[in-house]
Amino acid sequence: MKCSFCLKNINIDKKIVLQGKEAYICEDCLLAGFSTLVSLKPDLNNNLTNSVLANNKELIQNDNKNQKKINLLTPSQIKKHLDDYVIGQEEAKKILSVAVYNHYKRVFVSSNELVNELSLNDVELPKSNILLIGPTGSGKTYLASILAKILNVPFSISDATSITEAGYVGEDVENILLRLIQAADFDLTRAQVGICYIDEIDKIARKSADNPSITRDVSGEGVQQALLKILEGTIANVPPGGGRKHPHQQYIQLNTTNILFIAGGAFSGLEDIIKQRLKSSTLGFRVSPSKYQDNENIFSYVISDDLLKFGFIPEFIGRFPVIAPLSKLSLQQLEDILIKPKNAIIKQYQKLFALDNIKLEFEQEVIKYIAKKAYESKTGARALKSILEDILLDLMFELPSNNKKLKTIIINMEYIKELEQKELKLPKSA
Ligand code: ADP
Repeated sequence: MKCSFCLKNINIDKKIVLQGKEAYICEDCLLAGFSTLVSLKPDLNNNLTNSVLANNKELIQNDNKNQKKINLLTPSQIKKHLDDYVIGQEEAKKILSVAVYNHYKRVFVSSNELVNELSLNDVELPKSNILLIGPTGSGKTYLASILAKILNVPFSISDATSITEAGYVGEDVENILLRLIQAADFDLTRAQVGICYIDEIDKIARKSADNPSITRDVSGEGVQQALLKILEGTIANVPPGGGRKHPHQQYIQLNTTNILFIAGGAFSGLEDIIKQRLKSSTLGFRVSPSKYQDNENIFSYVISDDLLKFGFIPEFIGRFPVIAPLSKLSLQQLEDILIKPKNAIIKQYQKLFALDNIKLEFEQEVIKYIAKKAYESKTGARALKSILEDILLDLMFELPSNNKKLKTIIINMEYIKELEQKELKLPKSA
């Protein structure tokens, strides 16, 4: 039996007969036809996905018995869980809780009695991808990963700088999706409702915002263009082995309509664009002039025009209707990050030591010292871990083979001073 379209032999188990016709179609031609149809009629894609997901109600969970089920929580429940892990960033946490709730509501609960009564069934809810803007080490990646953990959906992290426009050296955009599929253990139904975090999104701004297309911008605007489709929702052909796509390759087809994309970046330089606009505008209704003098929460005032100036194309900005600003963490917040959250960094080291039967403690002064060092660094909370790693390296090296059976170790300032004098990696304390 041959496919009537490509004339390849069809496996008898997989034969698909066009009803009432003397014709056969193989899986490949059927999929190719389907992809073409979807690209011509995007609505078809949404409707199909929604009906597939509606039939997949068991994905929604109310108890935690099945590890694969998704937790549908209210915004306040999501925020409460986030509070357990993430210090500060109240505005971002609130915006994210609402956006994520709306996203999964749109995915799983498409209709109810009131929607019927008000004849709102035909109203389509657009997707709300999220843009996180805040300095390095302020918790952008962390927030996105904790969200995925709370909701129990697959989560992947990709770097926008690794992608280039198709045909140029670098990764294809579909590799972002491959990571998500891998995170979902190749369960495509779960991958299709996962969260994709794209880091360093600011690096794909057009190189020179005022000077479009003198030379081809394959890692900037070209990548924005390439990302548009998967951000919006499409059936993407993902090469299972990663890398570049090539003809005659089998692809995994993944519908991206219900994948939530969260993109994050430090956007250095954007502050000036915002300030400039605020200064020249007399109409800023959210802003009193004195407020935007301080740099701390300047990103709260960002609007899409600023991102345009920064070098994003309008279509790209349009795919990120939700913008959540994060601020630089204060000294006190850095201190809190060390000890307060559910999986606080110090608790992690305490567990590592406890597994060797050693009780690890820190004097309050040392906690303050570490926070101060991190505050002075350019990498925010990211520095906390590396500073701790430097402080504890010798101990972690020696103690497991120490037979003196030490039971408790208290890290105090004397020990820190000693390390500083040894000129181990620690910079001299200020
Ligand atoms: P960013 O993506 O903004 O550069 P990360 O999310 O990678 O920063 O932060 C690095 C680490 O610092 C995280 O893994 C987390 O342990 C810690 N961290 C950062 N911000 C916070 C926060 N607000 N609350 C708790 N921990 C945080």
